[in-house]
Amino acid sequence: MVKEDEEAKEEKKEESLEKEGEEKVKKVEKKGKKKRKNRKPSEKWRMYSISGEKGIKRKNKSCPKCGEGVFLAEHKDRFSCGKCGYTIFK
Ligand SMILES: [Zn+2]
Repeated sequence: MVKEDEEAKEEKKEESLEKEGEEKVKKVEKKGKKKRKNRKPSEKWRMYSISGEKGIKRKNKSCPKCGEGVFLAEHKDRFSCGKCGYTIFK
């Protein structure tokens, strides 16, 4: 009879532990409900084209103010820098 009592106690302990665990999981879910905005990466590597072993060619013009590494975006009538606002009209 004593053994049965001990087993019952252990079961109760396990139940309480499970309940605590569930509560913790629920709290975590509430915290993690922030929605992520889908943003496309800049894909700067598209501006480069590698030809041969030495040659790395830049497809777009680079900004004279910001230096190489910042490219000018091509529009219908102009090139513009997204970082400093530098614009060249065609
Ligand atoms: Zn710039």
